[in-house]
Amino acid sequence: MERYRFGKGEYRYFAEPFPDAVAGLKQALYPKLLPIARDWWAKLAREAELCFAILALSTDYDCWHPAEEAVTAASVIEVLRANIARAQDVVRALLPLCAATPRACGCGRAAEHAILTARDAIAPEARERLRILYGRYL
Ligand SMILES: [Zn+2]
Repeated sequence: MERYRFGKGEYRYFAEPFPDAVAGLKQALYPKLLPIARDWWAKLAREAELCFAILALSTDYDCWHPAEEAVTAASVIEVLRANIARAQDVVRALLPLCAATPRACGCGRAAEHAILTARDAIAPEARERLRILYGRYL
């Protein structure tokens, strides 16, 4: 990854212990930014009436473990490809369970009361644009 200006030096810079200024920023901002990033995805899923879960798979550990060897782009891509296969396995295993289990949550009808515009006042172009997500409510 050094070729992409993210070598051991940069990893170490982002690894703890941070310089005081970075540690202060991290402590001040991470608790506020992490929920925003996570919630952004959750809100997008909610608008699409999808249940949402995060599946995170790491590609390497060298930035957090000083004893680990430096990674290369090729090694990251190799792990990334293996992670894609793992993620596909997880989805393949979960889909039949999801299909066989009725949802107990309200995600599937989250937008049911979201459209406040009188239905006869919705322009045909808007109706067509919204049809894929909200056609059953129009
Ligand atoms: Zn749900």
